[in-house]
Amino acid sequence: SPNSASTQKALEDRKAYFGKNLSLSYKAPIHMSRSVFQYMYDAEGNTFLDAYNNIPHVGHSHPKVVRAGQKQMARLNTNTRYVYDELAEYAERLLKYFPAKLNKVFFVNSGSAASDLAMRLARAHTKARHFLVMEDGYHGNTQTSIDISDYKFNNPKGEGQKEHIYKTALPNTYKGKFAGETEAGKRYGEEAVAQIQNSPHPIGAFICEPVVGCAGQIPLAKGYLKEVYPAIRAQGGVCISDEVQTGFGRLGDHFWGYEAQEVVPDMVVLGKPIANGHPMGAVVCTTEIAESFEKGVEFFSSFGGNPVSCAIAKAVLEVIEEEGLQENAREVGNYYQQLLKALAKDHACIGDVRGMGLFIGVEIVKAGTQEPDTELAQHLKNEMRQRHILLSTDGPFDNVIKTKPPLCFSKANAEEVVKNLETILNRI
Ligand code: PMP
Repeated sequence: SPNSASTQKALEDRKAYFGKNLSLSYKAPIHMSRSVFQYMYDAEGNTFLDAYNNIPHVGHSHPKVVRAGQKQMARLNTNTRYVYDELAEYAERLLKYFPAKLNKVFFVNSGSAASDLAMRLARAHTKARHFLVMEDGYHGNTQTSIDISDYKFNNPKGEGQKEHIYKTALPNTYKGKFAGETEAGKRYGEEAVAQIQNSPHPIGAFICEPVVGCAGQIPLAKGYLKEVYPAIRAQGGVCISDEVQTGFGRLGDHFWGYEAQEVVPDMVVLGKPIANGHPMGAVVCTTEIAESFEKGVEFFSSFGGNPVSCAIAKAVLEVIEEEGLQENAREVGNYYQQLLKALAKDHACIGDVRGMGLFIGVEIVKAGTQEPDTELAQHLKNEMRQRHILLSTDGPFDNVIKTKPPLCFSKANAEEVVKNLETILNRI
């Protein structure tokens, strides 16, 4: 119970040592103590089914990943100013998942640092200082990352849109200008192209996520990037895909989200699942971009690409292959979406079920409308927590239930989530 003495003490400590903008999930915060695969355990020994956390990609505390970290920590940890085998071994293995033109990699310690670095690389390569970003996109917590994140700068408490940032409309097929049209992606794309062509300044880079998480799990309408990427390149810019949420097989049909759009970016930003919770990020780019960057000051990150991170990240790729986790994401994800869509048929408050693989959004609306029902979404999230199932909410109205579990999630787990949602909805 959240009222236990140890949880109260933990909550008081938070108040004492941290600012209030260090947010907590749920009305009754959970005092976590352990986790394994798709389960988490609180300080009182309650078991939670984790239908939300995508950072422990191959499963919380996966033994192979843990062992890889422990062994490497006991042997050598250092930085890239020395030569060690783990760095190139991992780089070689990672780059095999990309098309040949994406053949250089920079390692950092978070998705934010990777987004930030990608913008520096873009500036070095194009010399242009204006960037095009996606409505409701999110790329991280550094100043540069916030500047390119509509989700942050456009927040009522945010700093607003900077002069060198342009924003383009979310190609949303549920709501929005071209929703419901068969060629929505093309239509949204054409509008973005007109915006790019009419830009008062050259655009150095266009960055977006293949499925826009903070927008409420919105997959870019089919065919959108095929329109936008050539237009960015035609005026001298580079195209960046932020795969921090969508990468490493989570989408099932695709190892990287950009593949669903049948394009190849010039740069890819990686983070979260790359090392299963160990802090790591990366930027993958072309030789040409890396060469432009080389002409500037030295690139150095104290921790980026250290042998421990590389050993852990290599184990993550091995587990994805050995356990067929991309295939599991596809199979379980499709089944999970089917169950949620069946639930939506009986409950008009579910306006949309969308996503790919194990990256799913459930939009909660006032029955029979597209009007957000934030209160109901919060109720569902908190009731599910009381039933020991972890979900979250997001989107500009915080009315989209997000589910993006570790990839070892099973069909039985999906059934448990949907059955519990159904029980709660039936009681309303
Ligand atoms: N890009 C995207 C799409 C993200 O979702 C996040 C984190 N939520 C980041 C970048 C930043 O990553 P981090 O929090 O590891 O710095």
